[in-house]
Amino acid sequence: MRKKEFKAESKKLLDLMVNSIYTNKEIFLREIISNASDALDKLYYKSLTDGGEKDRKDFFIQIDLNKDERTITITDNGIGMTEKELENNLGTIAKSGSFDFKNEAGKQKEIDIIGQFGVGFYSAFMVSDKVEVISRAYGEEKAYKWESEGAEGYIITPCEKESIGTSIILYLKEDDEDESYKEFLDTYKIERMVKKYSDYIKYPIKMNVEEEKLKEGSKDEYETIIEEKVLNSMIPIWKKNKSKIKQEEYDDFYKSKFFDYEKPLQTIHTAVEGQCSYNALLYIPSHAPYDFYSKEYEKGLELYSNGVMIMEKCADLLPDYFSFVKGLVDSSDLSLNISREMLQQDRFLQMIAKNIEKKIKSELSKMLEKDREKYIEFFKNFGIQIKYGVYNDYGMHKEELKDLLIFYSSKEKKMVTLKEYIKNMKENQDSIYYASGESIDKVDLLPQVEMVKDKDFEILYLTDYVDEFVVQMLMEYDGKKFVNVCDKDFDLDTEEEKEALQKENENYKDMFTSMKEILSGEVESVRFTHRLKKHPVCLTTEGEISNQMAKVLNAMPNNQGVQSKKIMEINEEHPIAKKLKEVQGNKDLLASYTKILYAQARLIEGLSLENPTEISNLICDMIAK
Ligand code: ADP
Repeated sequence: MRKKEFKAESKKLLDLMVNSIYTNKEIFLREIISNASDALDKLYYKSLTDGGEKDRKDFFIQIDLNKDERTITITDNGIGMTEKELENNLGTIAKSGSFDFKNEAGKQKEIDIIGQFGVGFYSAFMVSDKVEVISRAYGEEKAYKWESEGAEGYIITPCEKESIGTSIILYLKEDDEDESYKEFLDTYKIERMVKKYSDYIKYPIKMNVEEEKLKEGSKDEYETIIEEKVLNSMIPIWKKNKSKIKQEEYDDFYKSKFFDYEKPLQTIHTAVEGQCSYNALLYIPSHAPYDFYSKEYEKGLELYSNGVMIMEKCADLLPDYFSFVKGLVDSSDLSLNISREMLQQDRFLQMIAKNIEKKIKSELSKMLEKDREKYIEFFKNFGIQIKYGVYNDYGMHKEELKDLLIFYSSKEKKMVTLKEYIKNMKENQDSIYYASGESIDKVDLLPQVEMVKDKDFEILYLTDYVDEFVVQMLMEYDGKKFVNVCDKDFDLDTEEEKEALQKENENYKDMFTSMKEILSGEVESVRFTHRLKKHPVCLTTEGEISNQMAKVLNAMPNNQGVQSKKIMEINEEHPIAKKLKEVQGNKDLLASYTKILYAQARLIEGLSLENPTEISNLICDMIAK
C-alpha cells in the first residue's frame, strides 16, 4: 500500500504539532474526546431522523491505558468514518487556508495558531509518534485503519471491527530529558484532565481504574479490583447552577470551545424560564478574533436542543452589531430535527434572539456604568461594531445603541458617554461640539479647537473614520444637535462681534476675491474670522462633507473624488491680517502670502500639499528677503 502525503496545510500543522513547543500538551485528550462526542451526536441525530432505533444511554467514550505498550486508546461508538471520510477528514484540514494567515516562526505566533485554529485531531501528534484510527461507519460492514507517524504521510488499510464507531490509538513518544509522556499513562492524571477539560461532555467517559477495596467479609484485608469508572459529570456547564461555577471554569470552557488562548472579557450566563425556556452562555472576547474583519468570519451562536447540538453557527441569534459575541443557546422548546429554513421562521428562536440582544445590551450598559476601564477595553476592540450598528440600516437601531457610544472628551481627557457630555454642558451651550481628525493629539492642535476650549466648552474628539458618519446619523442627542467646531457657521461671538466682523469682511471683499482667484478655485471663499485665538489661519468647511469625511470617502475603493467645500479663514486679530491689508495692492506679494497661508492651513488639517516645491521656494524667498 502506497503511503499518501498530507495536503500542504496539514503538513505544516503536523510539523508544528510534532515539534510542538506548545506548552499545553494536555489538550490532545480534550480534542479527541470532543471529536468522539461529536461523532456520538451525529449518530444520535441520524438515528432520530432515520427512525429512531438508538438510545442515547447506549453511547459512551472509553479510555484505555496500556503501560507496557505505551498506548492510550480512545474509543467511541459514534457514527464512525468510511474509507473516504478517513481520507478526507484526517488527510487534510477542514478549515484550510486560514492557516496561511500566520506562519512565520516565533513562539507566541505558534501558540496563537494553535489556540485560534482548533487543531483538533492533529494535536495527537504532540504526544505520539504514531497514531492509528480504526473506524467502522454507521451502515457499513467494512472497517478501515488509518495510520500515520506524522509528517511522512499516512496509510489506509481494510481491517476488522465488530461494532460501529472509532478507536484512536496513540503510541506515546519516548520520554527524554526535556519531556515526559509517561504521565499520560497514569489513570489519576487522565482523570484530572477529563475533569478539567471535558467534564461537560454529555456522554459517559469511562475508564477502568484500579481500586483498593476491603475484601468481602474481612475487616482489614484489601484487594485490588478493577472498576469501570465514569470520569465526567456529564452536565454541560451552561446547565449547571451559576453559583456553583467558578470563573475559571467558564474561562476554560470558553478557551477550549472557541479556540481562544486568552480568557474572555465578559461572561454572560442566563437561564430563562417561561413562555420559552432556554439557557444561554455568552462570551465577549477580550480581543477581536484574527479573522474578525475578514469575509470568512461568520457570526452566530451554537444552538442546542436539550443538550444536543443542532446548529454550529446560528446567525439569526445575533444582530450584526453584536457579531463578536461567542457562545451557545440551549432550549428544550426547539425541535431536534428542525431544518435551517424552518428555524429562521421559528417563533421561539426569534423570541430567544430578541431576549439575547437585550441581555447583551444590558450587560454592556452595566459594564459601562460599573467598570469603565473594562468597557473602554471592550470599546477598543468592538466599539466600531456598535458604531456600524448606529450607522447601518439607515439608522434603524440608533436609538438602542446610542447610549453605548463613548468618545474622547477634551475636558475630561478620557472617554465619555453622550449622556455624560450633556450633563456637563454649560448653561449657555445648546449643542454638542465635536471636532474630528486622525488622532486625539492632532485634533487637539486644530486651531478651531483652541478657542472653543479656551471658552471652557467641552469638545468630543472624533478619531475613528466612521465617527462623523455616526454623528450625522444620530443628528441629535437629548434634543441637542451635534455641531462640528470646524464648520464655517460655527462661532461663539456675540451679536455685536458678529456684526463688526461682517463689516470688516465686507470692506475687504475685493482682496478676498483676488485671494480666491490666486488659489484657483481650491476654496469656496476667503474671509476673516474671530474663531482663532493665536493661530493665523484655518480651513473650515461648508455643507455635509467635512475635510475628514472627504479623506475617508476618498480612501474607499471606487471613490467619486468627493471634495469638501473649503473656506480659508484668517484670524482678524493676528498681525498677519494687518500685513495682508497692507500688501493687498501688491499682486505678487499677495499671491505669495495667500499660497503660503493656504498651505499652512492644509497642513494643520492633516491634508497634503499638491505643490510642496513651490511653497518651499516661496518660504525661502521670504526668508532671504
Ligand atoms: P474538527 O473536529 O475541528 O473538524 P479534527 O481535525 O479534530 O477537526 O477532525 C477532523 C474530522 O474528522 C472531524 O470533523 C470529523 O468529521 C472526523 N473525526 C474525527 N474524530 C472522529 C471520530 N471519533 N468519529 C468520527 N469522525 C471523527
